Amino acid sequence: MRLVIAQMMHETNTFSPVPTPWEAFGGPRGPALGREVIEALAGTRTATGAFIDLARAAGAEVVTPVAGNASPSGPVDRAAFERFCGLILAALEPRPEGLLLDLHGAMVVAGGLLDAEGELLRRVRAAHPALPIAVALDLHANVTAQMVTNCDVIAGYKTYPHVDMYEAGERAGSILLRALRGEVRPVMAFGNRPVLAQTLCMATAQGAMQAFVQAAQAAEAAGLLAASAFGGFPLADIPDAGLSAVTVANADEASARKACEAMLDVAWARRAEFIYEPEPLARSLERVRACDGGPVLLLDHADNCASGGTQDTMTVLREALAIGLKGIDVGPIRDPEAVAQLIAAGVGATLTLPLGGKMDMPSIGLRGEPLVLTGVVRAITDGEYTITGPQLTGVRAHMGRTAVLDTGVARIVVTERNQEPWDLGVFTSVGIDPTRSRYLLLKSRMYYRPVFLPFARAAVECDGSGVTSSDWRLFDYQHLRRPMYPLDAQAFEPAPDPHR
Ligand SMILES: [Zn+2]
Repeated sequence: MRLVIAQMMHETNTFSPVPTPWEAFGGPRGPALGREVIEALAGTRTATGAFIDLARAAGAEVVTPVAGNASPSGPVDRAAFERFCGLILAALEPRPEGLLLDLHGAMVVAGGLLDAEGELLRRVRAAHPALPIAVALDLHANVTAQMVTNCDVIAGYKTYPHVDMYEAGERAGSILLRALRGEVRPVMAFGNRPVLAQTLCMATAQGAMQAFVQAAQAAEAAGLLAASAFGGFPLADIPDAGLSAVTVANADEASARKACEAMLDVAWARRAEFIYEPEPLARSLERVRACDGGPVLLLDHADNCASGGTQDTMTVLREALAIGLKGIDVGPIRDPEAVAQLIAAGVGATLTLPLGGKMDMPSIGLRGEPLVLTGVVRAITDGEYTITGPQLTGVRAHMGRTAVLDTGVARIVVTERNQEPWDLGVFTSVGIDPTRSRYLLLKSRMYYRPVFLPFARAAVECDGSGVTSSDWRLFDYQHLRRPMYPLDAQAFEPAPDPHR
């Protein structure tokens, strides 16, 4: 048996000015190719890691044409997408027994290709109509009918922050292998509801998203092969952005459909809980100042790398310094120009430079505004570290060349590349122990939870500025299907009040 395994992952923020070339999908040389995929991802807690384990356990020959996972950013370069498709399609000659794809489900390609995963699957199906295809998707996938009709099995993550990527891959892959052995005949149902849910309101440990996921788990416990609750990714101006569900049953389409609608009804009834209510930054910072001890987390979620932020807006740091907070560890700020200046100055040097604010954000009418700071260069590194978990455990992370600027009241990790603060390594790799920080300013909205929250005194969401704001009023949607809750809330029956 020959199985092809490939990964193509990107969550596209169509409002983000951050470019997404081929090189963004991996280390310094771009995505892993051929055997490099095994070296990079075998043994990791990713869906691809699970696919590799399953294929090996089945005694299959494993073919891995490409694996790439780019930090969220603006639309993907057309050439990069074509290269992924070309590599995957070429690996299907001669035709394998099955194809296992580790996709995100919210990828948009520059030039108006709004459903990249659907297009990839459509091309594969067109070339090989009978090829069995299993897909693992992120919980933030904006699932489309085109994706569902052009594959056989879909399973999504059930956790956010995502700590079950492996399990989603294992579920999708095992169903496919069982189908290849003739044990099951997977059939899928897909549906959606017009809710532009905010990622900040999709934590699976609480509230409406927890209930949505529990409905999926109940459907699996009742006998479905897979049931997946997708919160969707709201910073995507595409028709299919929003909440959806996919169910996989063994031969019984009616039961798949029934479970899918039941899950969606659970989410729709609690739609108001998926919408974030912003708080003025000054009030959030007063709450920060009122906290005794530390570390207190300041969550700069409007400029979150993991949702496509420029990761260089300085609003929260500027205001935190203005009210006199001291002992702030910040990171990472993406500013390749500043990194070059800090490296040229060298460890121990004192310098004054404009930090951050290098990118304009025309989609929300914001100009980049650097913050001029004076400090000492404390560290310079190659920005590489191995993630200790619990998310993406074992994966090698690349921040690009990295430096630390110490202003006396703030130590700022400055990187060449975008990097979510998803692991202690962001700080420990440059000599900062975040467990001893008074304040930790993180450009994070969710990934901090399994890593930083366990030792934090408090966590305060700080509405700074940027293209990952959770205030949907800032964004001008042109392609989104309408009516959509909450943009057109008046078009629907009033939502039940979550606070009653
Ligand atoms: Zn996600």
